[in-house]
Amino acid sequence: ATLKQQVVTLPDGREVRTLGQGTWRMGDDDSKRKAEIEALQTGLDCGLHVIDTAEMYGEGKAESLVGEAIRDRRDDVFLVSKVYPHNAGGDKLVQACDATLERLGTDYLDLYLLHWRGDIPLEETVDGLERLKADGKIRAWGVSNFDVDDMKELLALPNGKHCAVNQVLYHLGSRGIEHDLLPFHEEQGIPVMAYSPLAEGSDVKEKIFNDETVNRIAEAYSATPAQILLAWTTRSGNVIAIPKAGQAAHVEENGAAMLLNLSEDDLDALDEAFPPPSGKEPLDVI
Ligand code: NDP
Repeated sequence: ATLKQQVVTLPDGREVRTLGQGTWRMGDDDSKRKAEIEALQTGLDCGLHVIDTAEMYGEGKAESLVGEAIRDRRDDVFLVSKVYPHNAGGDKLVQACDATLERLGTDYLDLYLLHWRGDIPLEETVDGLERLKADGKIRAWGVSNFDVDDMKELLALPNGKHCAVNQVLYHLGSRGIEHDLLPFHEEQGIPVMAYSPLAEGSDVKEKIFNDETVNRIAEAYSATPAQILLAWTTRSGNVIAIPKAGQAAHVEENGAAMLLNLSEDDLDALDEAFPPPSGKEPLDVI
């Protein structure tokens, strides 16, 4: 078997690991704060350098927690945050970005994403993001929850092709993007960032974790079902998965999944248990 690809190359040439760390719902509960900070730092030690957050998460609480976790090691992190659609233009965008940077205790983001499409014209958002880039506040920008039509509209705009990633829901139990969005991204050379790769919040989460095939494959690699899900999500080399783990033991497990290389037989068996889409499906979102 070939060695599994552990990095994804962004359009600007920067390389990021295929697995990172999500932070939704982190920082909400003070009693978990210490463990969550430790989990994020453990993740950095394991090479999970992409940290994904958003101004929305706990209305700034997740960003503040991340800021605390990375205080002495900003250079170890590929830092991603997201702006609310209603802040994604004009002065509001500048203010939102400044507030995000302040909470994170840094003077730049590696990547800044439009969290989902709202009412502000995309052109205005792209202009504002390009200005933040020129000002050195962000290194690159991208989008989230964009389907193929949205992406086409974006890429047709002036500077639209500077979009570095699209962050969308993707896991073994939700494969709709394989029909058109994933191939479109491969064609364009724009990676996809998979959110909820462990199927959190999905009706099929329990079914996946208890599934016979998933568990049989996990046993064969002395791995856990979560590791199989992460190896599966990142199998193409064009997808970065950002599992959230508030417990250090989970993070270590997730980091080790970067080395797990599923075979063609494994992938076929998983296709049988959780079939790929047979046609267009509306983009799944949380
Ligand atoms: P995930 O699918 O990543 O699942 C998170 C859950 O899985 C937590 O309960 C966590 O537990 C548990 N977990 C983590 N690692 C393991 C493991 N090895 N074994 C067993 N359980 C494990 O859910 P999220 O919805 O949080 O998605 C990930 C990230 O994606 C978010 O945190 C956020 O950053 C981003 N996101 C973006 C969205 C968007 O609209 N752009 C929407 C939703 C998410 P514990 O915490 O106790 O370790």
